[in-house]
Amino acid sequence: MIRRNKGKVIIIGGGVCGLYAARRLTREDVRVCIVEKESCFGGLAAGRCVGGNFYDQGVHMLHEHDREIYKDCMLMMGKESVAVELNARIRWEGRFYRYPLQFGDMIKGMAPLTLGHAVISLFLSQIRNKIAPWEPENCEQALIQLYGRALYRFFFEDFTHRYWGRHPSQISAMFVKRKMPRLTAVDAIKKVLGYIGIKERKGRGVESALLSETLHYSATGSEALPRSIAGQVRKDGGRLFPDSIIKNIEVSEGKVHCVDIINSRTGNIKTLTCDQVISTIPVTDLVHYLRPEAPAEVIESCHHLQWLPIVIYGVLVKRDRAMDALYTYYRERVFHRVGEPKNAGLKVNPDGHTVLIVEMTCNQGDEKWRGTEEMKEMVVADLCSEGLCERDDVVEINIIRNRHAYPVFALGYERHYELVKKYLEGIDNLQSIGRQGGFSFPGMHSAMRMGAAAAENILSKEGF
Ligand SMILES: Cc1cc2nc3c(=O)[nH]c(=O)nc-3n(C[C@H](O)[C@H](O)[C@H](O)COP(=O)(O)OP(=O)(O)OC[C@H]3O[C@@H](n4cnc5c(N)ncnc54)[C@H](O)[C@@H]3O)c2cc1C
Repeated sequence: MIRRNKGKVIIIGGGVCGLYAARRLTREDVRVCIVEKESCFGGLAAGRCVGGNFYDQGVHMLHEHDREIYKDCMLMMGKESVAVELNARIRWEGRFYRYPLQFGDMIKGMAPLTLGHAVISLFLSQIRNKIAPWEPENCEQALIQLYGRALYRFFFEDFTHRYWGRHPSQISAMFVKRKMPRLTAVDAIKKVLGYIGIKERKGRGVESALLSETLHYSATGSEALPRSIAGQVRKDGGRLFPDSIIKNIEVSEGKVHCVDIINSRTGNIKTLTCDQVISTIPVTDLVHYLRPEAPAEVIESCHHLQWLPIVIYGVLVKRDRAMDALYTYYRERVFHRVGEPKNAGLKVNPDGHTVLIVEMTCNQGDEKWRGTEEMKEMVVADLCSEGLCERDDVVEINIIRNRHAYPVFALGYERHYELVKKYLEGIDNLQSIGRQGGFSFPGMHSAMRMGAAAAENILSKEGF
């Protein structure tokens, strides 16, 4: 039973971040409304169900890193959760490498001359940084500083360019700190250097937290997790508003007083009053909805904050299994990753079929985004070339698009984001968090942790 003397919280955006904030608040009897523009909750972790098959927005599996959140999620998911060992690969120049990249695999794959060149160049970049530490101005310089020029050219330059649609020199150095996976091979090379007395012997070798990790998935796709959280929130008295688009967010005396929403199905307008607001929608959209309007320089800065869209081609294939992995990264294909969630326990109908989740970053409106017949042909041709299916095996292709998959850390984005953030921090009862609201790259567990932290912050306030 919800105690009516507690304050009222509006959560805008029903991805895992917003849902988990609601989970924490409803558990403490707080009155919560979650406003979500889509029909179903889950955001990036939600999928689409077609013909009884679940197609994820990119392979999504829960990591165990945040033990408290993980245990709570397991409690809510119950028997829906399927534990699965990480088994991922990188396909490159005709070979498979384990993901994350292993030193042993890399040595096998690299010509001795290239490897020697990589070690020398890494060594030179380490020495240079030790003698005269320098601040990289962009992602290219940051990668060269970290890995040396040869490894940068060998591993990162082309793939980063292709994935992000811009050269690493046009991306902020911050990207390396926030997003770049730790290349375990570098630790190993450092270790080798250590053994011959060139550097301290404290390299981490090839070990990585990810290597021995158990991931969690479900027979009904990644959306089983947000579906379970939403179900629990509803049970605990939270009010969920799907298909609801924000019209205005009314601010006066430095506080949000109410949020006007429109139901996209019925056209009905509703005003929700509130004591506190947690927003998890794109920070630029949040600014756009504020009334009175934000200052011109804040709106101008929003135009400099961009997102990289993703498009998923969910392919139903008449084949029992297609790959011997949960997912594989491709460096030389039209797509950048293909996952086979059946290998993580997805139930696929009918028997003898599997689902391939083909991921591509893109630009809104381009061929990939639109899913032209030519693009579908290219995807199928590349899947066939990789031996994942035959042309006649393809039963259907379902396309899922998301405009806000990745915040773009474009060169110089920091000052624009800081300006917008500072302005929003001036609104006393508003917190903008999560992947979109915090303009960051959390995994689901980290996004949920952000939601939990925002909820704790509210619970510490008078009236809660
Ligand atoms: C391809 C891909 C694969 C990934 N794989 C994994 C993985 O395996 N494991 C992992 O831990 N993480 C993974 N992630 C990261 C993870 O998906 C996200 O970090 C996490 O889901 C973010 O949750 P969120 O609630 O912060 O944001 P979102 O999921 O983006 O939620 C924001 C919500 O706000 C809603 N919204 C937007 N605008 C409005 C509006 N105006 N009014 C109302 N609602 C609105 C959206 O519809 C959405 O539901 C992956 C990400 C991508 C892109």
